[in-house]
Formats: sequence, structure tokens, C-alpha cells
Amino acid sequence: RVRTRFAPSPTGFIHLGNIRSALYPWAFARHHGGDFILRIEDTDTERSSEEAVQVILQAMDWLGLDYDEGPFYQMQRMPRYREVLDQLRAAGWVYPCYMSTAELDALRERQTAAKQKPRYDGTWRPEPGKVLPPIPKGVQPVWRFKTPTTGVVGWHDFVKGRVDIRNEELDDLVVARPDGTPTYNFCVVVDDMDMRITDVIRGDDHVNNTPRQLHIFHALGAQPPRYAHLPTVLNEQGEKLSKRNGAKSVLQYRDEGYLPDAVVNYLARLGWSHGDAEIFSRAQFLEWFDLDHLGSSPAQFDEAKLRWVNAHYIKHTPPDQLAALVRPLLERDGITAQSPDLQAVCALLHDRAQTLPELAQQTLLFYRPTQPDASALEQHLSAQAKPALIDLRQQLADLPEWTREAIAAAFKAVLKQHGLKMPQLAMPVRLMLTGREQTPAVDAVLALLGREVVLQRLAPFLD
Ligand code: GLU
Repeated sequence: RVRTRFAPSPTGFIHLGNIRSALYPWAFARHHGGDFILRIEDTDTERSSEEAVQVILQAMDWLGLDYDEGPFYQMQRMPRYREVLDQLRAAGWVYPCYMSTAELDALRERQTAAKQKPRYDGTWRPEPGKVLPPIPKGVQPVWRFKTPTTGVVGWHDFVKGRVDIRNEELDDLVVARPDGTPTYNFCVVVDDMDMRITDVIRGDDHVNNTPRQLHIFHALGAQPPRYAHLPTVLNEQGEKLSKRNGAKSVLQYRDEGYLPDAVVNYLARLGWSHGDAEIFSRAQFLEWFDLDHLGSSPAQFDEAKLRWVNAHYIKHTPPDQLAALVRPLLERDGITAQSPDLQAVCALLHDRAQTLPELAQQTLLFYRPTQPDASALEQHLSAQAKPALIDLRQQLADLPEWTREAIAAAFKAVLKQHGLKMPQLAMPVRLMLTGREQTPAVDAVLALLGREVVLQRLAPFLD
């Protein structure tokens, strides 16, 4: 059974690149009918906060990334890590190292000066026949993992293909600090093992941890998961997406009126593809998603494309749902949107906005008409148009039925009678009714406004 996880560190900010590392394992688990587990990696107590956990939970909830188990918190699993550490100790996989920070610094300096890669030199590593230095008094040791010194460690990565690292490149990793608290790489292995994770899908900033983690799995006699390391997401300037260089929080997209399905669709394509399909439903995505079509080069975030995808989703959201999403935005500005009916207004305007606030803004055409600019009106109101408008008003007043078709027929008849072209009549009508030069088809606008309002608004200009 496929089991995947999202293992965020709750440090207060989660951007679209971060949440993509939740979307893919979630989709993989759902595709296979497996389990998706949420694990909060909160051992960095200085940087972690409960508030940040809430941000993660809200972002996942908003995007509909539901999990089957968790959230688990690493801070609550300390006894378990100590237990596993004892196990490694008993089996001789870890050893105490008394090298002080000052000694480590000096070692690093020497190595750097000699143009070598800084690494722990194994001073305290027990070997048959080796005499260890005398243990300094009153010093609590760190515990280091006995990394094999020869051979290679490797895995087949879904994104990177075969990765092999020579063990001599690795040094003996610290797995527990002097106070006994376990370190990051060790906790991840214990968790992935205990949680029976089959597939780790995470950012490639962790690729250097993987060989170290594989060694620990091996020492514990546990089967390691398969790995897919996702290439970074870059911003539009080609830098790694991060808060520092202006990435927005996932929740900001929520607050700016993006639809969760649109964001999921956009993120699905940001590093994975199914032929050249750009727009697909969540169900379709889950059916198609696999690890073989993950991109192997960094994906570039493109807000214009996200807006384009969002516009598509707005256009395809049923008008009653759109109205329900737009209404609170209007009410926030004191607009009750009673008449004309908001649902009908949304149905008319749904292809004219990329975000919900933009759609709300468009509806003001109906709910906050303005006085036309005098010069604009003068420009569009030709001498022949005025008598035509007076005729049009009469026809509209007499229409037996107030429908879009009947209104369109009235316009046509008047245009013919006066030898005018549509814009010569439609532009002044638009301006008089809404104060705007740009509106959807004028007959549709009139139909929605209703006869009473139309006649009332035309009156001051024609009487
Ligand atoms: N906690 C790590 C992070 O937020 C993820 C670790 C992992 O996925 O193995 O980057």
C-alpha cells in the first residue's frame, strides 16, 4: 500500500513551491488509493510556532489536501527517537564524540586552508586496535553515526535517475546532541520508518540528506522508501522562490480571490505534465498523476499563467457558486447586490475577470453606476443619435416582454429606421446607463437592469 507524507517545518510561511511538496505526495497517494500522512517537523523550537502550524493546516484545507493520518508532531515523539537511538547504540552503530566546538572549528580551518572539503575526521570513531584519546572531564558528547568508509550508497530517484554517492564523501553524521536530543536526519528516518512511508516526494534541497538517511535505514534493518526529489521552483527573475524575494503566502492567494481548484491545477503543471494538457479537473489529475512525468529542471513560477488558469475556473464555476463567492466581497464594501440578481450578473460577467475581486469589481457596473464623463458622452452622442435614442426609449417602454431578444429587436429596428450603426446607439446607451464605455453586450445589460431602471436612467439625458 502506497504511503506518502508531507513533512513541513512550521516556520511561519508557506509559499506555492512549499505546498507543491504537499500536492504531489497527496496526489500520488490518492492515485494509488494509499495513505497520505501529515508530519510537522517542529524540532527547531526557536523557529517553529503553533501559529505557523495553523498556517500550514489552513493552506492544506483551502486546497483540499486531506490527510489520512496526523498531524504528527516530532516534538511529541522524542521518547521514540531516544529508544531507537539506544537500539543503534546497542548495535554499535553510533559512538560518542567529545570533540569540542573550538576543536571542530580549528579542524575546519585547517581543511579549508588545505583546500579540502571540511568534514569530521573520525578522531573519536572506535576501530579495532585503535586507541581513542582520553575522555575529557565534564563534557557531554555528541553521538555520531558510523558511516561506512568505502563503497557507494545510492538510489533510483524518480526525478534524478540513478544517484550514487561514494561513502568517502560523507562524514560521521551527528545523530544526537550533547543533551540527548536527536538531530534532524535521524528523526526523519525514524518517522519514515515508523510511518511505513513507501515514497518520499520532497524538494531537492534534501538530496544531500538522502545518502545519510539511507545509511540509517540500513543500520536499523529497515527498508528505505523510494525517493523523488523535486526541482526547485524559481520566481519570475529566476531566483529560488522564497519569502525574502517576494513570494506570496499560499493564504494570500486565497485572500486575493483565487479558486483552490485553479491553484491546484496550476501547481499540478508546475513540475509535472501529462502531454500538453493545461487544464484538467482534480479527478483527472489524480487519475493521471505519476512520478515518471515529473520535470527534471526547475519550474518557473508565472503569475500571469496562474491568473489565466484562475480565469478559466471562474468562467466554469456555476453562477450560483460564483455569486456566493462574490457576495461577501461586495458586502464588505457595503453593497447589498439585491437587484439585478447577482447570480445573473455573475453569469453575464464570468468571462471578464481573472480573480474574484476583479469579478466583484465588474459587477459594480450594475450596483454602482456612475455619471458618464460629459466629454465621453459628447464624443459618442452624434447629432443623428439623439432622435434615434428617443425612438428607442419609446420602443423599450412599449415592449410587451422585457427579454434580451426583444430588446435586441428594438435596437435593430431603430438602427434601421435611422440608418445608424450599432455603436452609434449602443455607446451612448452604455454611458447613460452605467457611466462606462465598456460593458458586455448592451441588450444583455438592459435585460438585467430591468425596464424601470433603464427608463429612469435614460430620462435625464433625453428629456
Ligand atoms: N521538514 C523538511 C522541510 O520542510 C522536509 C523534510 C522531508 O520532506 O524529508 O523542508
